[in-house]
Order: sequence, then structure tokens, then C-alpha cells
Amino acid sequence: MGRYINAVCRLCRREGEKLFLKGPRCTTPKCALAKRSYTPGQHGQGRRQKLSNYGLQLREKQKAKWMYGVLERQFRRYFQIASKSKGVTGKVLLQLLERRLDNVIFRLGWGLSRAQSRQIVRHNFVYVNSKRVNIPSYLINKDDIIQLEAKEDAKKKIKENLELTRERSIPSWLEFDPNELKAKVLRLPEKDDIPSAIQEQLIVELYSK
Ligand code: SF4
Repeated sequence: MGRYINAVCRLCRREGEKLFLKGPRCTTPKCALAKRSYTPGQHGQGRRQKLSNYGLQLREKQKAKWMYGVLERQFRRYFQIASKSKGVTGKVLLQLLERRLDNVIFRLGWGLSRAQSRQIVRHNFVYVNSKRVNIPSYLINKDDIIQLEAKEDAKKKIKENLELTRERSIPSWLEFDPNELKAKVLRLPEKDDIPSAIQEQLIVELYSK
């Protein structure tokens, strides 16, 4: 499956909840889900179908995948890593998603959405421990130092983003110096640090069949 290129608001409407794929617009009345809370498509205005157990598990996995902008193959790979780890599979899976560099850039407010944060990484603006890293799926570790190195106009844009995301608090596992545009990973994220309500157990059940 290739990358999803259609209107992302359809995904929120499909899942019946906000996945916050469009930055600040998501918290305004312009949000497509606020305006049309039914499933997209011809029969979308009918009642939402009651889902089977399998359906619930599948939807939870899709929701997490869309939120983090991860393809099916990558997502399954994260599950395999998590299931082989010593920790609780669901928690490690969430931690892996949260540790992605594009997600960290999003959590720091440098990008308005994960898609934009992904671009910031792709455009070679991000350094981890003084080395340029342009791989959005790069996994950060405790004590990593993340820094922005970009031309003045790009820095200006990111500072504007910081203004727009000011109300979104920086998670406690990250320390951020907005003057230097530099952050430190104080510890790895835990389930409680993740604001989105993902029921990871449903995903584990789906992949464990
Ligand atoms: Fe989802 Fe944001 Fe679009 Fe609302 S505006 S439907 S939260 S992507």
C-alpha cells in the first residue's frame, strides 16, 4: 500500500474521531468532523455500523496508523519489535511510535502536524547529537539532543509554528529551549505521556491472531 494522498479529514470522519492531522485547524469550528460527523461516502449519513470484535481491533490499528502517518508494513514491523521485547507489547508499540523523530518534532511544536514535521526532517533541518538525520522514522533515545539547523527563513517559519502551537504543552519527557531551538530527551515516553486515547490492547489482539 502506498502513502495516503487523499483528503486527510476523511480519515477522521471514517474513524469517527479527531486524529489531528491538520494542525491548528483541527481545534477550530472549521474541522471537517465538527461540521460533518458522519462517515464519508454515499451511505455515510446512515447509522454507524455496530462493529464486531475484529472490526474494533482493526479500526483501532487503522486509527493509530493514520495518526502517526505509518504504513501497514512499518506498523507491523513495530509490532514485531514490540512483541519480541521484554516489556508489555502494547506499551512498547506505543513507545516506538512516539519515539519516531517526526513525532518528536511534532510534540515540540516545530511542525503543525506530523505530516509537516516529517517534511522538516526530510528537508535536512534536524540534527540529533550533532549529526544530521533526515529519516522521519529514526527512533530517538534517552539523552539525545535534537537541534534545528536551518536557514533564517525556515527558522522563522518554525518560530511561527511555535507561536501557533504554544497552547500545546511540551511533554514532560522532553526539555525544550525555544531560544536555541534545541531539545533534550529526558527519558523515553510512557503510555501516560501520550495524549491520544489509543487502546493498544486491541491492536495487540489483532496482530496476535
Ligand atoms: Fe481531522 Fe483535523 Fe480534519 Fe478535523 S480538521 S477532520 S481533526 S484532520
